[in-house]
Amino acid sequence: MFQALLVEKDDDGKTRAAVAQLDDDRLPPGDVTVRVEYSDLNYKDGLCIGPGGGLVRTYPHVPGIDFAGEVEASSDDRYSPGDKVVLTGWRVGEAHWGGYAERARVKADWLVPLPEGLTTRQAMCVGTAGLTAMLAVIALEDHGLEPGTEKPVLVTGASGGVGSIATAILAGLGYEVAAVTGRPENVEYLTELGAHRIVAREELAETVKRPLESENWSGCVDAVGGAMLARVLGQMAYGGSVAAVGLAGGPNLPATVIPFLLRGVNLLGIDSVSQPFEARRRAWSRVATDLPLDKLEAMVETARLPDLPRLGADILSGKVRGRVLVEIG
Ligand code: NDP
Repeated sequence: MFQALLVEKDDDGKTRAAVAQLDDDRLPPGDVTVRVEYSDLNYKDGLCIGPGGGLVRTYPHVPGIDFAGEVEASSDDRYSPGDKVVLTGWRVGEAHWGGYAERARVKADWLVPLPEGLTTRQAMCVGTAGLTAMLAVIALEDHGLEPGTEKPVLVTGASGGVGSIATAILAGLGYEVAAVTGRPENVEYLTELGAHRIVAREELAETVKRPLESENWSGCVDAVGGAMLARVLGQMAYGGSVAAVGLAGGPNLPATVIPFLLRGVNLLGIDSVSQPFEARRRAWSRVATDLPLDKLEAMVETARLPDLPRLGADILSGKVRGRVLVEIG
């Protein structure tokens, strides 16, 4: 038997999440069985614990898009009992049962060995949100961003999971960081993570009036999308890049192509779900070296399985600050 957060769907289509005891034979097929030690909470988890957001295929469902733990059994040569592993992406926790359970069974291809220099706890403090922040920073660097640029690097949705970790990584690497937040109460928190400047959300909330504004930012990690991303594109310095990560402010992009044509601005798409193994390894090893771990501790709240229905609703309404670590084992 193992404990899990099980989401069931009533006949009237409403979902309900509660902790349940499940038989081992209910685990899905897969090559590797993992004793989960930690999971975490991401925006997508909020959707999968609650209304589903079109992500969950079948019910009953065990959410949890990330987990870290120890291999209990493996039919794949790459993993043996006792190995520490991490899983993010591959639609685990959405289309497949995920990490909100004491035991998970998955394809070996989806796992990565626990990155050197991180514990399973630290890996889940980082999770998909942090890995994605790292992938965004790598993409900006690959397009020429370097510390010492004249203009700051902008991080939108800065008090969220992606934004908090992006802020800490960029500041740790020596960039001047401008953090956009709609929550003035988080100014001190963001400053402690390394933000040099705070930009109020309202300043960037209005839709584009002029396709080009002053060149304010040398790069941007954008977790918000929507009208804010459109505004930011028009404020990028010549040749600057925006890593588009999220849609906390909406999926539409009410922009013009003028910043691409007249300023050579780049819009870089960041996907964490289907990143190939080597790209994941590279990003995790950069997390281990470039994310100041004391800053990581400052952004983490811990929870257990019964807390998740409440916290899932909180993350969907933008109330969660930083990262939520879920202690399982
Ligand atoms: P969080 O909810 O933790 O953070 C989102 C932040 O965005 C909030 O904390 C808030 O920051 C800001 N925000 C929320 N609503 C609005 C709004 N209406 N307008 C402007 N700002 C808003 O989520 P995560 O950090 O986990 O994820 C951020 C986004 O990135 C999500 O859309 C998520 O789906 C996406 N994502 C994408 C991945 C990928 O592979 N591309 C991987 C991981 C996440 P503040 O209060 O400081 O303004």
